[in-house]
Amino acid sequence: MVTKWIVGWGWLSRPGRGGGGGDGAQESLRHALRGLAETVGEWTFYAVVVLIAIALLRRIPYGFFRWSHRLLALGYLALVFHTLVLTEPEYWGQPIGWVLAVLLTAGTVAAVISLAGRIGRSRQVGGTVRSVTHFEPLRVVAATVELDPDWPGHRPGQFAFVTRDRNEGAHPYTIASPWDPQTRQVEFVVKALGDYTARVQRELCADTPVTVEGPYGCFDFNDDRPRQIWIGAGIGITPFIAGMKYLARHPGGPPVDLFHPTTDHDPAAIQRVAEDARAAGVRLHVSITPRDGRLTPGGIRRAVPDWREASIWFCGPTAFGQALRQDFMAHGLPTDAFHQELFQMR
Ligand SMILES: Cc1cc2nc3c(=O)[nH]c(=O)nc-3n(C[C@H](O)[C@H](O)[C@H](O)COP(=O)(O)OP(=O)(O)OC[C@H]3O[C@@H](n4cnc5c(N)ncnc54)[C@H](O)[C@@H]3O)c2cc1C
Repeated sequence: MVTKWIVGWGWLSRPGRGGGGGDGAQESLRHALRGLAETVGEWTFYAVVVLIAIALLRRIPYGFFRWSHRLLALGYLALVFHTLVLTEPEYWGQPIGWVLAVLLTAGTVAAVISLAGRIGRSRQVGGTVRSVTHFEPLRVVAATVELDPDWPGHRPGQFAFVTRDRNEGAHPYTIASPWDPQTRQVEFVVKALGDYTARVQRELCADTPVTVEGPYGCFDFNDDRPRQIWIGAGIGITPFIAGMKYLARHPGGPPVDLFHPTTDHDPAAIQRVAEDARAAGVRLHVSITPRDGRLTPGGIRRAVPDWREASIWFCGPTAFGQALRQDFMAHGLPTDAFHQELFQMR
């Protein structure tokens, strides 16, 4: 668009068109479609800018973003048409054309998969909710789900998309238990953070069928540092529950300190975390914010004097994680020793 505007302002003269490389019929078809392709390209460009703005503006509700984001694939196909018509025919015999052909083909396949709603389909398995435990003061529900035999297993700390209601679609949750092929049962711990998750608290019951897609993610405690500091703030404790249950079955990893700052307090939930920590040999530091004040980077360093040797694994509010990362980097922790799970898709 910019080069077109520059020509319009008279700053550049329009370059001559290539001589065309196709036969007569091909050339006249291209000529006939040229105007349409230009219009399609221009309007799709504006639409794509709007769709990207919707994706970036977090004030726009997630449901609307998720629905509108699919239209990007349609925009991509429109731009493929634009490109095919307007690319000079001689380009297709040159490296630029070969690269373009590979990208357009791969992008078109991806766009069709997306429009057909088939993204992640090969990673979906069925499951049934077997038991539900409520932690009322936390507005949290823990659900045990038995997965169908196709589940490939997962590493502790990974997450999955769970669909209970097709109209609502999939929501991501950390799998709060390590993989056990004997029982094929996994646990999800869900906090009421919005409309749907509040409904889950009220409506979820045993025998509910669900679809689970995954596993996804690299938040898996895998590194070669001699010590680890885990920080699970609030509902951000879920990957560490899986981590502790895994360590209880596979001891011998590096020493771990787990910090669990939380605003809401439920003795039953804390007791479960404490039992998991004891079984895993993890040193647990619980801080209840209204009682103990905020967890600070200085407080963590005082509690773990050898923190310089450690990697830090953080899950919780994004801003808290960023503040911790900056502080620890400023005190000399290597950049790649700080790992942060995001409970946000945008
Ligand atoms: C990798 C990952 C792991 C997570 N693990 C857990 C967990 O173990 N326990 C837990 O309680 N929560 C977890 N969450 C957060 C959980 O997915 C959201 O709280 C939930 O989807 C909010 O839905 P809602 O409709 O109730 O809230 P809304 O009020 O509709 O949305 C609140 C925010 O949640 C996000 N959100 C809403 N719908 C979706 C969706 N379908 N997919 C992705 N994000 C969405 C949006 O950022 C939105 O701004 C995780 C999120 C991610 C990305």
